[in-house]
This record gives sequence, C-alpha cells and structure tokens, in this order.
Amino acid sequence: MRRMRLVIIGGDAAGMSAASQARKRLGRDVLEIVAFERGHFTSYSACGIPYWIGGVVAERDALVARTPDEHRKAGIQVRLRHEVTGIDLDRREVVARDLDGGGEVKTHFDHLMYAAGASPVTPDWATDRGAGIFGVQTLDDGAAIQEWLARDPAPRRAVVIGGGYIGVEMAEAMVRRGLRVTLLEKSDQPMAKTADPDMGALVRQAIEGLGIEVRTGAAVEGIDTEGGRVRAVVTPGGALPADIVLLGLGVRPNSALAEQAGLPVGATGGLRTDLRMRVEGVDGVWAAGDCVETRHLLTGRPAHVPLGTHANKQGRVAGINIGGGYATFPGVIGTAVTKVCDLEVARTGLTSKEADSAGFAYVTATVASTSRAGYYPGAETMTIKLIAERRTGTLLGAQIVGKAEAAKRIDALAVAVWNRMNVEEMTALDLSYAPPFAPVWDPVLIAARKATEAVHASL
Ligand SMILES: Cc1cc2nc3c(=O)[nH]c(=O)nc-3n(C[C@H](O)[C@H](O)[C@H](O)COP(=O)(O)OP(=O)(O)OC[C@H]3O[C@@H](n4cnc5c(N)ncnc54)[C@H](O)[C@@H]3O)c2cc1C
Repeated sequence: MRRMRLVIIGGDAAGMSAASQARKRLGRDVLEIVAFERGHFTSYSACGIPYWIGGVVAERDALVARTPDEHRKAGIQVRLRHEVTGIDLDRREVVARDLDGGGEVKTHFDHLMYAAGASPVTPDWATDRGAGIFGVQTLDDGAAIQEWLARDPAPRRAVVIGGGYIGVEMAEAMVRRGLRVTLLEKSDQPMAKTADPDMGALVRQAIEGLGIEVRTGAAVEGIDTEGGRVRAVVTPGGALPADIVLLGLGVRPNSALAEQAGLPVGATGGLRTDLRMRVEGVDGVWAAGDCVETRHLLTGRPAHVPLGTHANKQGRVAGINIGGGYATFPGVIGTAVTKVCDLEVARTGLTSKEADSAGFAYVTATVASTSRAGYYPGAETMTIKLIAERRTGTLLGAQIVGKAEAAKRIDALAVAVWNRMNVEEMTALDLSYAPPFAPVWDPVLIAARKATEAVHASL
C-alpha cells in the first residue's frame, strides 16, 4: 500500500478523535499523521473549564485527556503553536505559521481533517483582549482567565454577557471565586435556547439563589476600559462596574479558512459534510466538530450544534472512514445537560419555540415529582415538561429541571425522541425502580401519562 499522509487542523476533540481512529486502523508504515494546533494543548476538555476556574477541579492538567507527547508516542506528530493559514486543494497542501518560532511550513496531504472548532461571538465593542474581556472556548482561554483572576489587585466584580449555558456556568465559577456577579441576557430569560419560559423561570431562581444579579432584556452598548483594564459594561440603564467581563454570546464555526479554500459552507456558517463526515463533494477532505453543520433529525433542517458529544462522535466517524472503514453520523436531536449549583437542567428534541418554527402542532404536559421515593433521604423535587405532536402523540421534546441526578433522565427521553416513540407507548416503558433511585412511578412515566391525556384531549 502507498504511504499516505493525514493532516489535521485543530488538535482537540474532533481532530484528535479522527487521528486516533485512523491510527488504530492504519499503522505508521501506511499512514503518517501530522496535527497542527495553534494553542498549547491537545485533546483537552473545554467543557471542564468552568469547573477548573471555579475550583471544583483543582488542576488544569486534569482537563487534558491526552498530551502532545502521548499522541507522539502513538505515532501522531503534533505541531503545537502552529496556525494553519492556507489550504491549497489543487496542490493538496496546507500552509502553517509557527506562532512562536516565526516562519511558515508547507505540508502535503493525501487526507485532510478540518477540525478548527468555533470561536466565541465577539461584538466590536468587546475585542480589547488584553483588558480583561474573555470569550471561553479553548483551554488557552481558560488559562488566560485564570491569569487575570490572579492579578493584583484581584478582580472583585464580574459581568457575564449572555445567559446561555456557558455564560451561566462561568457566572457560577465567578461566584465560587468570590466575585460579585451580574449576568446580562438580552432575551427575557436565561438559557432561552435550552428551556421554555416556564422552565427557564426555575433556572433563573436558581441563578439568583447563588447571589447572581440577573438582568434580562438587557442590551449592551459597550465596555469602558481604563489603563488597559476593563472598568464597566455600559448598558442603556447605566454603567455596571466590572473588573472582568466574560462573553457567553454563543459561538461561530471557524469555517473561514475552509471557505477561502473553496470548501462548501452552509447557511448556518458550518462546513457541509456527507454522512461519513467527508466534506461535500471533495474527496479526501473531512470535517467534524464545532466547525461543521449537521442535520436536525426532527426538523430535517441543517443545524449548528456545537457540543463536545457530537465533536467526538463525528471525529471518530471521520477517522474510521479515513482508515478505510465505514461509519456514519446521522444527525442530532438537540440533547444537552448542564447545572446551576445543584439545580440540573436538561433538554432533548425541540423546545416549544423550535417546534413552532418547524411547523409542528403539539401539546405540552408538565409534571412535578421527586427524584427518589418521597420518603427516601435526599428526595428532591423535579419538573419534567414533554412536548408531543398533536394527533400522533410522537414525542418531540423534553425538558427537565431538578436536583439529585434528575437531569440524566433526559437520556431515556432522548432515546424515545430518537426512536420516534409516542407518549402513550412510553407510559408502559420498563424503567427501573427502587426507592433510592425513583418513586414507584418514575417522573418520566408520570409525564408520559399526562402528555397522553393532553394528546387525547386534542383529538
Ligand atoms: C466552557 C465550555 C463548556 C462546555 N461544556 C460542554 C458540555 O458540557 N457538553 C458538551 O457536549 N459540550 C460542551 N462544550 C462544547 C465542547 O467543548 C465543544 O463542542 C468541543 O470542544 C468541540 O470540539 P472541536 O474539536 O470541534 O473544537 P475545539 O475544541 O474548539 O478545538 C478546535 C481546535 O482547533 C484549533 N484551531 C482553530 N483554528 C486553527 C488553525 N487555523 N490552525 C491550527 N489550529 C487551529 C483551536 O486552537 C482548538 O484547539 C463546552 C464548551 C465550552 C467552551
């Protein structure tokens, strides 16, 4: 077999999953693998950054699943602090800049894996990077935040702009570090993309319970800096003093480099791929993770859902295919989970707003129950909301807000959504029961019963 070279752009979840899978299938004598990463780390958990900053995880290195040296031992050449600046599809070559040593290297590829991730949305008024304004995406971003928090005098007031799950997790981390925190959200509830307003209200209560001031409907006009340090976030209602500002305004796929090379980018801004994660119409070029768009299996529409769970699976699929195997990534249904202090928040499928936008007619059912048998120590209240299609009763979505391992019930609901179950058949699901784990009627079953009644009433 002819020796080939796989070049990877981006050394985290998607890129290094692909590298590892391809390496498993093809030995060093057949496949050379070169990974370019512009940061200082490989295979890190960005998801763990809020917990490291908040002190729940003590060591930065605990977030690194595989160091560059470990990858090198597996026969993957890692070029850290190398930023790929150009892709030439005709020559099958990438150009990378050495960010520390200077200069450029050109590297030929037979296969190219594009896994450049995404970048935090950064409005024009938030680009003064040296001043204590941070987006959170890479472990380098996390390290920069840690450095800023360690400054003398220590920051005392944090403003988090954007109340999505990253904003909320970072707000909690700031509280844990002893800062006074304000969370600004332009819509009328935090986590508006995750939860319907009634469920979002429970999340807001939990955030405020941490002592975080939540301002919804809040527009930001700019950020004041002085002497190279942020001083305040300016809103129509006045200036909010801040010593650190964290952006949680969402992310955009890092697809510009690919687009410049002529690779197809979809309406969501993510690269378009086929089911095997091959970039649409381009042999030998693959893409995965936060830089790609995928298909929402309920709406059938393209979607950009930047989550580690997808990045790892898609990278694995690409790596298997690069290695000569066969694997596919069918799409997503919007499952996600997070927590605010001890309140857990989870979703799968569509929210009411998303179901409306997709054109579904639906009913909803919300139940409050307990996570364990009511008499068992540690039983906590949990709320489940189900969204089911009118007439067919097909489960379209579910949301859970609650404590004591409430949120992981979303996985049973995700399986039901994935398999297009209707809520009536769900009432008979053989879910587990013992007092330390659930009431005799698990909240999922109670919710399915109530949703069934709502479907029948809608006929
Ligand atoms: C704070 C936080 C919490 C999160 N929590 C969760 C969670 O709980 N659950 C979940 O499923 N997901 C979570 N995520 C999302 C998850 O981390 C991402 O979806 C995942 O990291 C995406 O992996 P990726 O490999 O596609 O991109 P990234 O992890 O962004 O990696 C891309 C890499 O490419 C490098 N790069 C970019 N451009 C170039 C270039 N031109 N040349 C060389 N290198 C380049 C970057 O430096 C980066 O290291 C969280 C993210 C954050 C930021």
